[in-house]
Amino acid sequence: MRWVRFLHHNEVRLGEVCEDSVSSNKERFALRSLKLLAPAQPTKIVCVGVNYRDHAAEMGRAVPQRPVLFFKPPSALIGPEETIYIPNSERVDYEGEVALVIKERCKRVPASGAYDVILGFTCFNDVTDRATQAWDLNWVRAKGFDTSAALGPILVSPDELSEPLYLETRVNGQVRQKSDTSQLIFPIPKLIEEITAFMTLEPGDVIATGTPAGVGPLAPGDTVEVEIHGIGVLRNRVARANA
Ligand code: MG
Repeated sequence: MRWVRFLHHNEVRLGEVCEDSVSSNKERFALRSLKLLAPAQPTKIVCVGVNYRDHAAEMGRAVPQRPVLFFKPPSALIGPEETIYIPNSERVDYEGEVALVIKERCKRVPASGAYDVILGFTCFNDVTDRATQAWDLNWVRAKGFDTSAALGPILVSPDELSEPLYLETRVNGQVRQKSDTSQLIFPIPKLIEEITAFMTLEPGDVIATGTPAGVGPLAPGDTVEVEIHGIGVLRNRVARANA
């Protein structure tokens, strides 16, 4: 299954995507004509830091022994084609990532059962205030500001995809990041086991699996794209937040 959430006459709808069209309530729409929303409504966004060796190296960080976890608040969420507003900071970076959305309420999920609780995969941009991250102990300001969690465009169920998932990030059309999920330090089943050992995940909750090497700054006027082969392109424009 491939789904989108979209706005139709001010009503939020769910639709199933088939090639270039979307079916919803016995109506059919052209996919490109729709105002798409983020394809999930999480109670929490659980992010994984330093989960690719090449990114650990570029950040000068050791390879972690356990997954590095942090939250983004649901208020940070935006969908495809929405604007990323960068705060007043010396450097704000894109981080292209593979995200997954949780299907059902779950706790203490063993790695062997992890795929049973995944609704689907989509693209994520973990927009990061890199300058603030240097002093912000739990990254609440550096990672939690409004519009810092871009998600979408389409949610694709695991049975429609074959792993590894290939990820590419582009800024103004130039490729900046290119990797795949075979390079994850902690693979997806291990992440679900680790996270659910500590907390209950709810339907719609998002896990962002970490970014590979190649992170870099965004500037007002940029267009940033995160693409996962077999899923689609998450595209956002960048603007300066109002003071
Ligand atoms: Mg990240």
